[in-house]
Amino acid sequence: MSDQNPALLRKIIHVDMDAFYASVEQRDFPEYRGKPIVVGGKPDSRGVVATASYEARQYGIKSAMSCNKAYQLCPTAIFVYPRFDAYSAVSKSIREIFSRYTDLIEPLSLDEAYLDVTEDKLGIGSAIDIAKSIKDAIKNELNLTASAGVSINKFVAKVASDMNKPDGLTFIGPSKIKAFMEKLPVEKFFGVGKVTAARMKAMQINTGADLKNLSESQLIAQFGKSGKFYYKIVRGIDDRPVRSNRETKSVGAEDTLAEDTNEDAVMHDLLKQISETVAKRLEKHQLKGKTVTLKIKFEDFKLITRSRSFPIPFNHAEKIYNEAIILLNEAKIGTSKVRLLGITLSRFYDDLPLEKPEDNQLEFEF
Ligand SMILES: [Mg+2]
Repeated sequence: MSDQNPALLRKIIHVDMDAFYASVEQRDFPEYRGKPIVVGGKPDSRGVVATASYEARQYGIKSAMSCNKAYQLCPTAIFVYPRFDAYSAVSKSIREIFSRYTDLIEPLSLDEAYLDVTEDKLGIGSAIDIAKSIKDAIKNELNLTASAGVSINKFVAKVASDMNKPDGLTFIGPSKIKAFMEKLPVEKFFGVGKVTAARMKAMQINTGADLKNLSESQLIAQFGKSGKFYYKIVRGIDDRPVRSNRETKSVGAEDTLAEDTNEDAVMHDLLKQISETVAKRLEKHQLKGKTVTLKIKFEDFKLITRSRSFPIPFNHAEKIYNEAIILLNEAKIGTSKVRLLGITLSRFYDDLPLEKPEDNQLEFEF
């Protein structure tokens, strides 16, 4: 990494709240402080632990563990139901704090985000100082603690934020990345889930250094498309940008026809207008999609959709229109009259491999 021009290096911070749900509970209910708190379902239920307080973690309780198991590990733990409204409100306040420094914020969940502070709004310049200032603001204004990782890319920043929890601040500079990656256990690598980690270990690949011994073609032969990604990431190369629009999954528009029709010319006119609206919206959010979907609602309110996907993302009105026409023809509507038409573009991102779940917090059942 040392051969990179320092002037071109990005400054990325990953901020992760410490035991978020449990910490909010302990903040809001003083009687929970200093005690093992499990946010999730009932102790005897099949529900899972969303977040355990640090006191509960000392008993071996972890996120995604069944509440039953958690109860066995610590029968005196206090089990509380999550209050998502409260967590969302705090999450909003945290994002407001981030936005004082940069608009390039990519939330991963309610309590975690990447920030690109290569150019910060206040002209502070030092990403470490910014991370410190963010942590201070979270502590002083919200009475909660966060851990931050600072580096030149998302992957290293994220691993760094996890290194000195809670209330940590870890900087991994360009000169340290190589050694850091070589020591890192494979299961910590971005995109390596449990199954892949087990496969790697069976192949005697335990650390970044082991992974580095494999050529790009060997990695691709073993792990498919992801192999290419592993080849780069183990060398500390992660060009994925911080995307403030990450939450947007699709962009579209629709409109009702002046009167129900099956005349091509009328439908084409409307599709042209809708294509232009969609293209403008995509442009505004700086997004390009790989999948275009046409929605057709008939006079009897029956609804059908037709989609096409392309290897290269696009956002031009003309291309959107042309594809919508092809989809309309394929739909073979015949004599049925159409009431409404809509076009949506989706599949904006192609970060391969798919991110492993960053956090179980939003995906559990009670
Ligand atoms: Mg967290």
